[in-house]
Amino acid sequence: MAQLPLVDSHCHLHMLDAAPDHPVQYLEHAREQGIGHLMTVSVDLDSVPELLALAEHYPQVSTSVGVHPCGRDLREVSPAKLAALADHPQVLAIGETGLDYMCTGPEDRDWHHERFRQQVRAAHLAGKPVIIHSRGAPEDTARILKEEDAEAVGGVIHCFTDDMASARRYLDLGFFISLSGILTFRQADALREVARKLPRDCLLVETDCPYLAPVPHRGKQNQPAWVREVAECLAEVRGESLGAVAEYTTTNFYRLFPTAPPLDRQATL
Ligand SMILES: [Zn+2]
Ligand SMILES: [Zn+2]
Repeated sequence: MAQLPLVDSHCHLHMLDAAPDHPVQYLEHAREQGIGHLMTVSVDLDSVPELLALAEHYPQVSTSVGVHPCGRDLREVSPAKLAALADHPQVLAIGETGLDYMCTGPEDRDWHHERFRQQVRAAHLAGKPVIIHSRGAPEDTARILKEEDAEAVGGVIHCFTDDMASARRYLDLGFFISLSGILTFRQADALREVARKLPRDCLLVETDCPYLAPVPHRGKQNQPAWVREVAECLAEVRGESLGAVAEYTTTNFYRLFPTAPPLDRQATL
């Protein structure tokens, strides 16, 4: 059987240099590196039309609708409004939403939690999974997901960097765990140790580009093609082949997002 290509489960294609007008350079390079699909994730509502245009035009691109926890847009995000925006075949999820205690102060916390809850409620209304961003807040993130019955919609903790106890709380909710280029960073021994132990049926890989370029590209603008370096690092850490990592991470992506468009057949590892 032919090997499955990789999926970049979380990127921000529209933020790459020149990408809004010229995404093809990034998509071509991704295809050459064996990336068969990529999800370009929403961080605010103003860019949703741009993301939808990308996803409608390029069959290997899907998208989401949500408001990032570090966003400065203070307008209300009602669950009904988000769910209505997400009512589109190429919108696979609500997010990225969640909690980030590095970019918000304690005085903002109640409001921050409420915005997160509203977006999980939108996921229930839309019948789509949630993409979770969590930094410095593993307990509160898991608690709110549980209180909002996020297990019923499912989702992914993107750019996971927490410890094994945190991972277990998310796994108990049936969530997937996505690893980014941070896995390749020299000082990330603790994360590599967690990645080595996680069950294969929960793992996804991502770039989160333009941020977090993996080794050996650090300091440059990240791009979807470099999810290959993340997958290669994961394979090395776990003593597996790149093909095996592609097989289970891509299968997991389609388990989480069963309505995702088919893989780009021209992308081979
Ligand atoms: Zn994020
Ligand atoms: Zn992101």
